[in-house]
Amino acid sequence: MRILVTNDDGINSLGLHALVRELEGEAETFVVAPEHERSATGHAITLHKPLRAVPTILPESDVKAWATNGTPADCVALGVLGLLPGRPDIVISGINVGPNLGRDLTYSGTVSGAMEGTIFRIPSLAVSVGAFRDTIFEVAAGFAMRLVRQVVERGLPEDTLLNVNVPNLPKDQIKGVKITRQGEKRYISTLDKRTDPRGRPYYWLTGAPAPQQDAEGTDSWALALGYISVTPIRLNMTDPDALEALAGWSLEIG
Ligand code: MN
Repeated sequence: MRILVTNDDGINSLGLHALVRELEGEAETFVVAPEHERSATGHAITLHKPLRAVPTILPESDVKAWATNGTPADCVALGVLGLLPGRPDIVISGINVGPNLGRDLTYSGTVSGAMEGTIFRIPSLAVSVGAFRDTIFEVAAGFAMRLVRQVVERGLPEDTLLNVNVPNLPKDQIKGVKITRQGEKRYISTLDKRTDPRGRPYYWLTGAPAPQQDAEGTDSWALALGYISVTPIRLNMTDPDALEALAGWSLEIG
C-alpha cells in the first residue's frame, strides 16, 4: 500500500510527523507538504509561477519527503503526477492543528488536500484534532491508520472523501466514533482596523465562532460530546432541493 501525506500546517508540523510515524511501518509512505503554513488557503492551486519541491528529511523518520512552495492541493498534484514512484492508494491530509467543522470546510487547506486526492479518484481522508494548543496527535494518528484499513477493504464512493475530527483528549476519555453530517458551525467575521508605524491604516481579518448550533448528528455536535467525528463529504455541491424548486421559477432569457 502506498500513501501520500500532505497538510496545510507545513512540513514542520508535529501533527504531520505524528501521522507519518504511525503510517510508515504499515505502508509505503510519502510526504509532499507546504514549506510553511498554508492554513485557510482553501483549494487554491498555483498556475502562474514555478512550483518547487525540495527533498527533505523528517525527524525520526525514513520516509521520502518534499517541502514545496505550493498549496495543499498543489502538493497532492505534485505527488500524484510527478514525485511518487507510482499512484498512491490513499491520500491523507493532516493531522491538522485545530478542527475542520461546518463552514471551516470551505476555507480549509487540510480538507482541500483530501479533495484534490478525490479529484484524482484516489480515496482520501482529512484528519484534524479539535484544539489549537497542547495537541494530542497519537489518538488521531492511530485512528487514521484504522480508517485506512477500512477504506482499502471497503472503498469509498468516487466523489467522496472522509473528513475526520478527533477530540483533543487522551484515548481513554474519547467516547467513541460517530458518523456525522457537515454541521452549521460558522463565524462572525470582524475587521480590525489598525495604524502602522508610518500612520497608514491596515486591516486584520478575524472572527469568532458564532453561538454554537451543534445540531444532533453534526460534526461539531459529535466532537463537542467527545466522539471522533467521521463525515463523508461529496465534491458535487449541487443542492438537490433547490434544483427542484428552481425548476418552478419563471426564467426566460428575456
Ligand atoms: Mn491548518
